[in-house]
Amino acid sequence: MKLVLASHNKGKLQELAEILEPAVADLELVSYDGPEPVEDGTSFLENALIKARAAFAHTGLPSIADDSGIAVEILGGSPGIFTAIWAGGRDNAANRQLLLAQLRDIGDENRTAAFICTIAMVSEAGEQSFTGVWSGRVAREERGSFGHGYDPIFIPDGFEITAAEMPPEVKNSMSHRAMALQQLIATLATGLD
Ligand code: IMP
Repeated sequence: MKLVLASHNKGKLQELAEILEPAVADLELVSYDGPEPVEDGTSFLENALIKARAAFAHTGLPSIADDSGIAVEILGGSPGIFTAIWAGGRDNAANRQLLLAQLRDIGDENRTAAFICTIAMVSEAGEQSFTGVWSGRVAREERGSFGHGYDPIFIPDGFEITAAEMPPEVKNSMSHRAMALQQLIATLATGLD
């Protein structure tokens, strides 16, 4: 079965293919290279659905898309859907520095945050979504060089190290994305119709 990933990011295609293809018999993940829709949703779910619907409309094949980010409790769930552009552009270092500056005077007990990943799947069988939440807190400074994005400033619950100090295989076994993917895999394994 061909499953379309609505993303122009080749790295993401490869990363997800390496997880999904061994886990689901006869699955081939292919990328969608049609026009990108405007992501004007107000939640991770809405934005993931917008992307997955566009890929399904364009290809007629079962399509998935993900949307993810970090939600900080004391900021009312922000950056949320604005995670990628929190400091104004798509600059991860600037995004992290702005978030650290905003929380500069906030104690550890109020730095609660979570990485969230929602995967939407759209096919003839309808629309489904899978969400993973990885709880933790925002660190006081950047630490670690693994990973990407906000990893250097996120300390998962149960750890005193940041996600960027974790070997990738450790992060990938427990992250928000891993949790959402496990749900998707369970659904794909039972068939779409
Ligand atoms: P996207 O949904 O992959 O485009 O990611 C949206 C934003 O969330 C980007 O700024 C990413 O850096 C950030 N983000 C999503 N997942 C992670 C993660 O696992 N670690 C660090 N940052 C993440």
